[in-house]
Amino acid sequence: MGKIALQLKATLENVTNLRPVGEDFRWYLKMKCGNCGEISEKWQYIRLMDSVALKGGRGSASMVQKCKLCSRENSIEILSSTIKPYNVEDNEKFKTIVEFECRGLEPVDFQPQAGFAAEGVESRTIFSDINLQEKVRDLGASQGAVGHVVEIIFYGEQDSSMER
Ligand SMILES: [Zn+2]
Repeated sequence: MGKIALQLKATLENVTNLRPVGEDFRWYLKMKCGNCGEISEKWQYIRLMDSVALKGGRGSASMVQKCKLCSRENSIEILSSTIKPYNVEDNEKFKTIVEFECRGLEPVDFQPQAGFAAEGVESRTIFSDINLQEKVRDLGASQGAVGHVVEIIFYGEQDSSMER
């Protein structure tokens, strides 16, 4: 357990600085219990804005939950300082975009959904509320990290780039 990195691999065209926005951004994950190996069937989300106190004064976590199978209490915390944007220079490479502090569980799958923003490479136009869900084309996992492949062909700047 401990710190687990979430990596993203993407193809960005005309946009850069792809990032999750706000404290209410939902990281959709599937969790695996480190005790019994049970993997949650449903997507669960965790948010920076949520903070649950851990028993025995051991700090706090973004989510605390009891495993349905073995009843062990596990927790996961978003490490806000580790959140990094994905830039056009990162294209086609896995990049860590966030790390989670995991106690008793580990995330095994990630589904990017709504709430991302990006900006135009040349225009610097901000594109807000991007939903990546339809753009995901494959899922890969590497050791110690959950990986995802996202493809963004065009986002908003198609017209202006064709005029040039
Ligand atoms: Zn369990």
